[in-house]
Amino acid sequence: MVDFDVERGMYGSHGAVRPAVGRGSAQSPDYCLRGHRLQIAGVTGRYSHYYRLTDITCEVCYALKDPLATWYLIDPTEQYSAEDADTMGLVLVLIPPAMRGGLGHIELWLGGVSVGDIDLRACGPCRRAVLEHVRVDEKYRRMGYGRVLVAAAVARAPGYSWSTTTMDTSLATRAFWAAVGDQVPGDIGGPPNYCTDMLRAAEHTP
Ligand SMILES: [Zn+2]
Ligand SMILES: [Zn+2]
Repeated sequence: MVDFDVERGMYGSHGAVRPAVGRGSAQSPDYCLRGHRLQIAGVTGRYSHYYRLTDITCEVCYALKDPLATWYLIDPTEQYSAEDADTMGLVLVLIPPAMRGGLGHIELWLGGVSVGDIDLRACGPCRRAVLEHVRVDEKYRRMGYGRVLVAAAVARAPGYSWSTTTMDTSLATRAFWAAVGDQVPGDIGGPPNYCTDMLRAAEHTP
C-alpha cells in the first residue's frame, strides 16, 4: 500500500519535512532529525519562501555538514480545498468523500502540483477510520512527505479507532511503516476494520 523506492539514495536535493501542529514556538521541536536536543545543540528558525513554511536548522548538524541539518515544519491540521489552496509553497489539499464512509483523499501540493497523496475512510458515527493508500512521487521520497500525509489523515479523525488495509511485505512498505506506523493510533498492517457505512460507500464507488 506504499510506493517507496528505498534503493534510491537518501534525501535528494529537496528538504526534509516534518508534521508539527501550531505556530511559532508551539510548533518548535525539541529534537533535531538526528536526535540532538536543540536547546543544547543550538537552533535557528527561519521562513522558507520556497516552501512557505518555517524551517529549522540544528546548529550541531549544520556544523557537521549533515544533509538533515535543516527541515521544514508543516501543520498537518491545516488543509485546504483545491479551490482555496495556495499554488505556491508546500500545502495539504483535502478532497472530501462524497458520502459517509466514502473514500477521502489528501494531497500534498508543491507549487500547485500534487507530489503525494493518501486515501482514507472515516466514519463519525462509528468513530472508525481506515488508511488505504499512501503514495509519494519518486523524486520526493524519503523526506517525510508520506509521514506528513499520514499525520494529515489522522488529524481528520482524532480519537477514532484506526486501521489500515493489508500491507504487502515489500521492503519499501515495511521501511515506511516501521518509521511512520507509530503515528497511527490503531492497528497497522491490516486487515482493515471497516464499518458498514464504509462497506456501503465502497459499493457505491465504481
Ligand atoms: Zn542535530
Ligand atoms: Zn460507520
